[in-house]
Amino acid sequence: MTGRDALPDVARAMVLRGPGALELAELPLPQLTEDDALLRVEICGLCGTDYEQFDGKVQSNEYYKPFPSVPGHEPLGLIAAIGSRAAERWAVDVGDRVAVRSSYGCGRCAACLDFDPARCPTRGGTYGFTHVDTAPGLWGAFSEYMYLHPLSVVRKLDPHIPASLAVMFNPLAAGLSWGASVPGTGPADKVVIMGPGQRGLCSLVAALDAGASQVIVTGLGSDQHKLELASELGANHTIVVDGIDPTDQVLELTSGGASVVIDTTPFFEGAFKQAVGMCARRGRIVLAGLKGAGVSAELVPDEIVYKELSVRGVLSMPLPDFHRACELIETGRYPLERLHTHSFPLAQAEQAIATLAGRTGDRAIHVAIEPWSG
Ligand SMILES: [Zn+2]
Ligand SMILES: [Zn+2]
Repeated sequence: MTGRDALPDVARAMVLRGPGALELAELPLPQLTEDDALLRVEICGLCGTDYEQFDGKVQSNEYYKPFPSVPGHEPLGLIAAIGSRAAERWAVDVGDRVAVRSSYGCGRCAACLDFDPARCPTRGGTYGFTHVDTAPGLWGAFSEYMYLHPLSVVRKLDPHIPASLAVMFNPLAAGLSWGASVPGTGPADKVVIMGPGQRGLCSLVAALDAGASQVIVTGLGSDQHKLELASELGANHTIVVDGIDPTDQVLELTSGGASVVIDTTPFFEGAFKQAVGMCARRGRIVLAGLKGAGVSAELVPDEIVYKELSVRGVLSMPLPDFHRACELIETGRYPLERLHTHSFPLAQAEQAIATLAGRTGDRAIHVAIEPWSG
C-alpha cells in the first residue's frame, strides 16, 4: 500500500442522523487492505436525491440506508492511499484524480452494466446511503475523505479540468443516457425535454451531441435562468409552462409532434399525458421524474396504442454512459461548467441542500460541496 503516511487520523464529515438532522463529526480514517482505497474528496455534486434524503423521503432498503449516514454520492477526488491490488485493478495510483460511481457492486456483470446493483451477484451498496456504523464509516462524500470499497467503479479524470466542470460527470451521464442512448436519439429527431434542471440541461447537451435536428426545453417561470442557459447551450426553443398545457405549442413548433420526449419534472402529475400528446407517431417517451406515491397520473393508453409509442422509465444510467460523460467533459466541447452555480464548504452542507432545493431564493442549477474550502 502507498500513500498512507502523510494522512491524518480522522476526517471531518457531515453525518445525517435522521430527517433534517445533519451535523459535523470527526470519523476515523479506515485501515486499508490491498483491495481498497481512500479518496481525498475534492468536490461532491448534489442532486434531488440529496434533499429527498435530507427530508427523509428516500426509502430505506437493502441498498439504501438514508441514515445515519455520511451523505454525498457524486464524488470527485484524489486517490489519497490505495492497496496494491486495487491500484492494479482500477489502473490508478496515489494522486490520481478520479470520478467515482455512486453505487458499488462488481462493475463487470450484466447487472452492473445495466446499473442494477440489486441483481449484481456480488451485491454492493451506494455511497451516501451506507449506514455510518458499517465499518469503516466514511461511506459518503460530504467528508474530507471517503472510503473506496473494493468493488467501486472509478475512472481517471484529467486533473487540469476545473472541479466545477469535472464534477458534471454524474448529471451528464444521466443526460447521455436519458437524452440520447435510451431513446436512440439521432439526426432525424425532434426532441422535447420537460424540465430544465441539471439533468434536463444535460439531456439537452446529449440530444444535441447526438445530432438531434430540433430540441425544445420546457420549464416554469421560476426556471427562467435555466431556460436562458438552455438557449445558450443550443436549444432551438424554450417554453414557459406556468398555467398552460404546452402540447399544442410543441405540435406547432415541431410541425406535427416530437419523436422523443424526456420528462425530468419531479412531482408534476400532468407530465405523462402531455408527453403522450406531444409525440408524433412512433415517438419515444423517457420518464425520468418520479411523481410520488398517491399521485393519480391520468393514463392515456389508447393514444399510446394509436400512435404506437414506446415508453421507458429510467432510474439511473448504465456504465458506458458514465465513461462517455467523462470523455465528453475532457473534450471541453460544451461549457457545462455554466450549470454549476454554487459551491459550499463542508460545514454549510445544509445550506447547500436548501439552495439546490430552491428554498433560499438563489437561482441555483448545480450545487456542490467542496470539503476543503472555507
Ligand atoms: Zn445524485
Ligand atoms: Zn455486478
